[in-house]
Amino acid sequence: MEQTSHTEVAVIGGGIIGSAIAYYVAKAGLQVTVIEKGELASGTSSRCDGNILAIDKDPGFDSQMSLKSQQLVQQLSKELKHPFEYRALGSILVCETEEEMSAAEQWVNRQKEAGLPFRMLDQSDIRQESPYFADDLQGGLECPTDSTVNPYLLTFALAQGAKEYGASFRLRQEVTAIQRDSSGQGFRLETTGGVVTAKKVVNAAGVWAPRIGEMVGVTVPILPRKGHLIVASRAVPLGLRKVMEFGYLISKFGGTRQVDAETEKYGVALVFEPTESQNFLIGSSRQFVGLDTRVDWTVVRLMARRAIRFYPGLADFTLIRTYCGLRPWTRDHLPIISAVEEVPGYYIAAGHEGDGISLAAITGKLISEMLTEQPTSVPVEPLRYDRFRERM
Ligand SMILES: Cc1cc2nc3c(=O)[nH]c(=O)nc-3n(C[C@H](O)[C@H](O)[C@H](O)COP(=O)(O)OP(=O)(O)OC[C@H]3O[C@@H](n4cnc5c(N)ncnc54)[C@H](O)[C@@H]3O)c2cc1C
Repeated sequence: MEQTSHTEVAVIGGGIIGSAIAYYVAKAGLQVTVIEKGELASGTSSRCDGNILAIDKDPGFDSQMSLKSQQLVQQLSKELKHPFEYRALGSILVCETEEEMSAAEQWVNRQKEAGLPFRMLDQSDIRQESPYFADDLQGGLECPTDSTVNPYLLTFALAQGAKEYGASFRLRQEVTAIQRDSSGQGFRLETTGGVVTAKKVVNAAGVWAPRIGEMVGVTVPILPRKGHLIVASRAVPLGLRKVMEFGYLISKFGGTRQVDAETEKYGVALVFEPTESQNFLIGSSRQFVGLDTRVDWTVVRLMARRAIRFYPGLADFTLIRTYCGLRPWTRDHLPIISAVEEVPGYYIAAGHEGDGISLAAITGKLISEMLTEQPTSVPVEPLRYDRFRERM
């Protein structure tokens, strides 16, 4: 016989965003059930780096929201029982040319005006950072508040923390339909594991959020933006903390770089992340190719070539594996964290693109504040779901 269960809040998606929501909402005293079609973190949250960054956020609202999230992650590192390889070492961007140095200086000034503690680095700072950098790098900039985590472990730690506050997780159960009940006061969710009724529903389905939106007639303007990663084995200590090339910002926000056509085509820009074990994650690429997560060796080669341009010694490293993930992209690079007025009780928390690990904590906190009608930790107007409407 089909099992029906009831919950106050149903969260669809057990990635880092759904798990953070479950944690903060359960902690606020509400009854929460997470419904996940696969395993915890089986979507993008296990196919990514683990950076909690403000350095690459648009100066102003975006970087201030990221700073707030960094502070929440620091608290989580103390309050969650399960460790998640939290390290707060800061991060740097490196510049190849004088033009990039001037653009970096403007970026630093705008971030400082927004209240973030950025600073410029000259050539000797870069040498001190790592003797393995290419000799011709001009300098860069630093954001000392940036940190890093293991994204799987943070997802599991949040889920475990949520369970301790009474949250339930229904794994390997896909939501296939959502109906509003006749009173308009709640929802009936059909899943492959039975029916769940809920007063409130949160769509935290990452790149699949548009499909969950369609189930209640809501358009969610999110597209999958594919990214490749290389895992290289540890050898010499290339560096202890996260490094990106300044051109990464141009690839992320869309601008013209001084690189060859193929590097530009696949949005390839250096991202270097040492893990706790001192293996290295090397990225990055950006492509709109639907839900295809197959590794493309042309892109991997371009990424390796780019990494060697900044760290010539990387040419001798051993490649352990490669993988791809799908960033849930929105047109203005901000997530959607919002109630949906036409469907009372329905919320969206998706579209974090390359920032979902950084912004998971603030997202969970904001949704818990919305559900309990508390003042929000940051203004939520820029995150509304209907902000794209006039542009669609
Ligand atoms: C290469 C790469 C590097 C990245 N590096 C970073 C980084 O360093 N820092 C950072 O902040 N961000 C980074 N990101 C971005 C980050 O990984 C994502 O923004 C984040 O993981 C999105 O989390 P999510 O929970 O929204 O989505 P997901 O993890 O995809 O979770 C959504 C879940 O919904 C489930 N689901 C879908 N449909 C249904 C259904 N019908 N029923 C039930 N469940 C359903 C899916 O199975 C999935 O588990 C990177 C991304 C990529 C691709």
